[in-house]
Amino acid sequence: MLSIQDIHTYYGDSYILQGVSLDLQPGTVVALLGRNGVGKSTLVRSITGLTPPARGRIVFKGVDITRLPAYRIARLGIGLVPQGRRVFRSLSVHEHLQVTARGTGGWTVEKIVDLFPNLGNRMRSQGGKLSGGEQQMLAAARALVGNPDLLLMDEPTEGLAPLMVRDLGRAIESLKAAGTSILLVEQQLAFALRYADIVYIMSKGQIVHRCTPAELSADAQTKSRYLGV
Ligand code: ATP
Ligand code: MG
Repeated sequence: MLSIQDIHTYYGDSYILQGVSLDLQPGTVVALLGRNGVGKSTLVRSITGLTPPARGRIVFKGVDITRLPAYRIARLGIGLVPQGRRVFRSLSVHEHLQVTARGTGGWTVEKIVDLFPNLGNRMRSQGGKLSGGEQQMLAAARALVGNPDLLLMDEPTEGLAPLMVRDLGRAIESLKAAGTSILLVEQQLAFALRYADIVYIMSKGQIVHRCTPAELSADAQTKSRYLGV
Protein backbone atom coordinates (compact mmCIF):
# COMPACT_ATOMS: atom_id res chain seq x y z
CA MET A 1 0.00 0.00 0.00
CA LEU A 2 2.66 2.50 1.12
CA SER A 3 6.40 1.99 0.95
CA ILE A 4 8.74 4.70 2.20
CA GLN A 5 12.30 3.97 1.17
CA ASP A 6 15.20 5.76 2.84
CA ILE A 7 13.88 9.32 2.57
CA HIS A 8 15.83 12.44 3.56
CA THR A 9 13.85 15.65 4.10
CA TYR A 10 15.05 19.21 4.79
CA TYR A 11 13.53 22.56 5.73
CA GLY A 12 16.04 24.84 4.03
CA ASP A 13 19.37 23.89 5.60
CA SER A 14 17.78 21.97 8.49
CA TYR A 15 18.28 18.24 7.93
CA ILE A 16 15.22 16.65 9.55
CA LEU A 17 14.43 13.15 8.19
CA GLN A 18 17.71 11.27 8.03
CA GLY A 19 16.98 8.06 6.12
CA VAL A 20 13.45 7.00 7.09
CA SER A 21 11.94 3.75 5.79
CA LEU A 22 8.46 2.52 6.66
CA ASP A 23 6.01 -0.03 5.22
CA LEU A 24 2.28 -0.02 5.57
CA GLN A 25 0.27 -3.06 4.42
CA PRO A 26 -3.28 -2.66 3.02
CA GLY A 27 -6.00 -2.48 5.66
CA THR A 28 -3.64 -2.07 8.60
CA VAL A 29 -3.14 0.69 11.16
CA VAL A 30 0.47 1.77 11.70
CA ALA A 31 1.15 3.98 14.71
CA LEU A 32 4.05 6.42 14.55
CA LEU A 33 5.26 7.46 17.99
CA GLY A 34 8.04 9.66 19.30
CA ARG A 35 8.74 12.71 21.41
CA ASN A 36 8.05 16.30 20.35
CA GLY A 37 10.13 17.55 17.45
CA VAL A 38 11.56 14.21 16.26
CA GLY A 39 10.10 14.61 12.75
CA LYS A 40 6.71 12.85 12.79
CA SER A 41 4.82 15.69 11.09
CA THR A 42 7.70 16.12 8.67
CA LEU A 43 7.21 12.50 7.62
CA VAL A 44 3.51 13.19 7.08
CA ARG A 45 4.38 16.30 5.04
CA SER A 46 6.86 14.27 2.99
CA ILE A 47 4.20 11.67 2.12
CA THR A 48 1.57 14.25 1.17
CA GLY A 49 3.92 16.28 -1.04
CA LEU A 50 3.83 19.39 1.17
CA THR A 51 7.57 19.06 1.94
CA PRO A 52 8.92 16.52 -0.55
CA PRO A 53 12.05 14.57 0.39
CA ALA A 54 15.35 15.53 -1.24
CA ARG A 55 16.39 11.88 -1.54
CA GLY A 56 14.71 8.48 -1.31
CA ARG A 57 11.45 7.16 -2.70
CA ILE A 58 7.80 6.95 -1.67
CA VAL A 59 5.59 4.44 -3.49
CA PHE A 60 1.80 4.36 -3.02
CA LYS A 61 -0.31 1.62 -4.64
CA GLY A 62 2.57 0.94 -7.01
CA VAL A 63 2.92 4.61 -8.08
CA ASP A 64 6.08 6.59 -7.31
CA ILE A 65 4.63 9.71 -5.63
CA THR A 66 7.92 11.18 -4.39
CA ARG A 67 7.87 14.16 -6.74
CA LEU A 68 4.15 14.54 -7.38
CA PRO A 69 2.39 17.77 -6.35
CA ALA A 70 0.22 17.54 -3.23
CA TYR A 71 -3.11 17.76 -5.07
CA ARG A 72 -2.23 14.76 -7.25
CA ILE A 73 -1.17 12.71 -4.25
CA ALA A 74 -4.50 13.53 -2.58
CA ARG A 75 -6.38 12.47 -5.72
CA LEU A 76 -4.63 9.11 -5.72
CA GLY A 77 -6.39 8.42 -2.43
CA ILE A 78 -4.29 9.75 0.45
CA GLY A 79 -6.31 11.72 3.00
CA LEU A 80 -4.84 13.95 5.68
CA VAL A 81 -6.01 15.02 9.12
CA PRO A 82 -3.33 17.66 9.76
CA GLN A 83 -1.93 18.46 13.17
CA GLY A 84 -3.64 21.54 14.60
CA ARG A 85 -6.89 21.12 12.63
CA ARG A 86 -6.48 23.79 9.93
CA VAL A 87 -10.17 24.39 9.33
CA PHE A 88 -11.41 27.43 7.40
CA ARG A 89 -12.89 30.06 9.70
CA SER A 90 -15.51 31.36 7.29
CA LEU A 91 -16.68 28.07 5.71
CA SER A 92 -19.55 26.21 7.35
CA VAL A 93 -19.18 22.59 8.44
CA HIS A 94 -21.33 21.51 5.50
CA GLU A 95 -19.22 23.54 3.05
CA HIS A 96 -16.02 21.96 4.37
CA LEU A 97 -17.45 18.53 3.67
CA GLN A 98 -18.65 19.50 0.18
CA VAL A 99 -15.23 20.85 -0.78
CA THR A 100 -13.37 17.63 -0.05
CA ALA A 101 -16.00 15.03 -1.07
CA ARG A 102 -14.42 12.56 -3.47
CA GLY A 103 -15.53 9.27 -5.00
CA THR A 104 -18.90 7.59 -4.64
CA GLY A 105 -20.24 5.32 -1.93
CA GLY A 106 -18.25 4.94 1.24
CA TRP A 107 -18.31 8.00 3.46
CA THR A 108 -21.16 10.42 2.84
CA VAL A 109 -22.22 13.45 4.86
CA GLU A 110 -25.08 11.34 6.32
CA LYS A 111 -22.72 8.65 7.56
CA ILE A 112 -20.44 11.29 9.05
CA VAL A 113 -23.35 12.70 11.03
CA ASP A 114 -24.10 9.22 12.40
CA LEU A 115 -20.51 8.91 13.51
CA PHE A 116 -20.05 12.43 14.88
CA PRO A 117 -23.50 13.57 16.12
CA ASN A 118 -22.01 16.77 17.58
CA LEU A 119 -20.92 17.82 14.13
CA GLY A 120 -24.36 17.05 12.71
CA ASN A 121 -25.86 19.68 15.01
CA ARG A 122 -23.38 22.28 13.74
CA MET A 123 -23.70 21.82 9.95
CA ARG A 124 -24.48 25.51 9.30
CA SER A 125 -21.90 26.87 11.77
CA GLN A 126 -18.73 28.51 10.51
CA GLY A 127 -15.44 26.73 11.20
CA GLY A 128 -14.19 29.64 13.30
CA LYS A 129 -17.20 29.39 15.63
CA LEU A 130 -16.59 25.75 16.54
CA SER A 131 -14.90 24.65 19.75
CA GLY A 132 -11.40 23.20 19.50
CA GLY A 133 -12.78 19.67 19.82
CA GLU A 134 -15.43 20.27 17.17
CA GLN A 135 -12.76 21.64 14.82
CA GLN A 136 -10.71 18.49 15.35
CA MET A 137 -13.78 16.35 14.54
CA LEU A 138 -14.37 18.45 11.43
CA ALA A 139 -10.77 17.91 10.34
CA ALA A 140 -11.34 14.14 10.63
CA ALA A 141 -14.76 14.30 8.90
CA ARG A 142 -13.33 16.36 6.04
CA ALA A 143 -10.69 13.69 5.41
CA LEU A 144 -13.27 10.87 5.57
CA VAL A 145 -15.62 12.29 2.90
CA GLY A 146 -12.62 12.21 0.56
CA ASN A 147 -12.91 8.41 0.87
CA PRO A 148 -9.16 7.87 1.09
CA ASP A 149 -7.54 4.45 0.71
CA LEU A 150 -4.86 5.66 3.11
CA LEU A 151 -5.60 8.12 5.90
CA LEU A 152 -2.80 10.04 7.61
CA MET A 153 -3.86 11.28 11.05
CA ASP A 154 -1.41 13.63 12.76
CA GLU A 155 -2.20 13.69 16.50
CA PRO A 156 -5.99 13.53 16.02
CA THR A 157 -6.73 13.26 19.77
CA GLU A 158 -4.81 16.45 20.63
CA GLY A 159 -7.08 18.69 22.71
CA LEU A 160 -10.11 16.37 22.55
CA ALA A 161 -12.42 15.74 25.51
CA PRO A 162 -12.78 12.05 26.49
CA LEU A 163 -16.20 11.66 24.81
CA MET A 164 -14.79 12.95 21.54
CA VAL A 165 -11.77 10.67 21.83
CA ARG A 166 -14.29 7.84 22.06
CA ASP A 167 -16.10 9.04 18.89
CA LEU A 168 -12.77 9.24 17.11
CA GLY A 169 -11.93 5.70 18.22
CA ARG A 170 -15.24 4.53 16.75
CA ALA A 171 -14.35 6.28 13.51
CA ILE A 172 -11.02 4.44 13.37
CA GLU A 173 -12.79 1.12 13.98
CA SER A 174 -15.25 1.82 11.15
CA LEU A 175 -12.41 2.75 8.82
CA LYS A 176 -10.54 -0.41 9.72
CA ALA A 177 -13.64 -2.53 9.15
CA ALA A 178 -14.00 -0.93 5.70
CA GLY A 179 -10.41 -1.85 4.85
CA THR A 180 -8.94 1.68 4.95
CA SER A 181 -5.26 1.87 5.85
CA ILE A 182 -4.22 4.38 8.51
CA LEU A 183 -0.98 6.00 9.57
CA LEU A 184 -1.69 7.27 13.08
CA VAL A 185 0.72 9.77 14.64
CA GLU A 186 -0.05 9.92 18.35
CA GLN A 187 1.14 11.27 21.67
CA GLN A 188 -1.45 9.30 23.64
CA LEU A 189 0.26 5.94 23.91
CA ALA A 190 -2.81 4.04 25.17
CA PHE A 191 -4.92 5.26 22.24
CA ALA A 192 -2.27 4.30 19.70
CA LEU A 193 -1.73 0.85 21.19
CA ARG A 194 -5.44 0.18 21.15
CA TYR A 195 -5.84 0.61 17.38
CA ALA A 196 -2.41 -0.11 15.88
CA ASP A 197 -1.35 -3.34 14.21
CA ILE A 198 2.29 -2.22 14.04
CA VAL A 199 4.18 0.51 15.88
CA TYR A 200 7.15 2.54 14.63
CA ILE A 201 9.12 4.81 16.95
CA MET A 202 11.06 7.84 15.72
CA SER A 203 13.91 9.67 17.38
CA LYS A 204 15.94 12.54 15.92
CA GLY A 205 14.74 12.06 12.36
CA GLN A 206 15.21 8.30 12.24
CA ILE A 207 13.12 5.18 12.86
CA VAL A 208 14.68 3.55 15.92
CA HIS A 209 12.19 0.78 16.70
CA ARG A 210 9.48 -1.32 15.02
CA CYS A 211 7.31 -3.76 16.99
CA THR A 212 3.77 -4.89 17.75
CA PRO A 213 1.62 -3.03 20.30
CA ALA A 214 1.88 -6.00 22.69
CA GLU A 215 5.67 -5.94 22.45
CA LEU A 216 5.80 -2.22 23.17
CA SER A 217 3.42 -2.54 26.11
CA ALA A 218 5.78 -5.02 27.70
CA ASP A 219 8.96 -3.06 26.89
CA ALA A 220 9.43 -0.56 29.71
CA GLN A 221 12.95 0.35 28.56
CA THR A 222 11.91 1.42 25.04
CA LYS A 223 8.92 3.32 26.39
CA SER A 224 11.01 5.29 28.86
CA ARG A 225 13.89 5.88 26.46
CA TYR A 226 11.94 7.11 23.43
CA LEU A 227 8.52 8.11 24.75
CA GLY A 228 9.28 9.36 28.23
CA VAL A 229 6.66 7.13 29.90
P1 ATP B 1 5.38 17.26 17.59
O1 ATP B 1 5.19 15.98 18.35
O2 ATP B 1 5.68 18.41 18.49
O3 ATP B 1 4.28 17.54 16.63
P2 ATP B 1 7.03 16.29 15.37
O4 ATP B 1 7.65 14.98 15.70
O5 ATP B 1 5.82 16.29 14.53
O6 ATP B 1 6.74 17.07 16.74
P3 ATP B 1 8.15 18.01 13.34
O7 ATP B 1 7.04 18.99 13.34
O8 ATP B 1 8.25 17.08 12.19
O9 ATP B 1 8.17 17.17 14.71
O10 ATP B 1 9.51 18.83 13.46
C1 ATP B 1 10.79 18.23 13.32
C2 ATP B 1 11.84 19.30 13.40
O11 ATP B 1 11.72 20.18 12.29
C3 ATP B 1 11.76 20.18 14.64
O12 ATP B 1 13.07 20.45 15.08
C4 ATP B 1 11.10 21.45 14.15
O13 ATP B 1 11.52 22.55 14.91
C5 ATP B 1 11.60 21.53 12.73
N1 ATP B 1 10.61 22.19 11.84
C6 ATP B 1 9.31 21.88 11.72
N2 ATP B 1 8.71 22.65 10.78
C7 ATP B 1 9.67 23.47 10.30
C8 ATP B 1 9.71 24.51 9.30
N3 ATP B 1 8.61 24.83 8.60
N4 ATP B 1 10.89 25.13 9.09
C9 ATP B 1 12.00 24.78 9.78
N5 ATP B 1 12.04 23.83 10.72
C10 ATP B 1 10.90 23.18 10.99
MG1 MG C 1 3.93 16.95 14.78
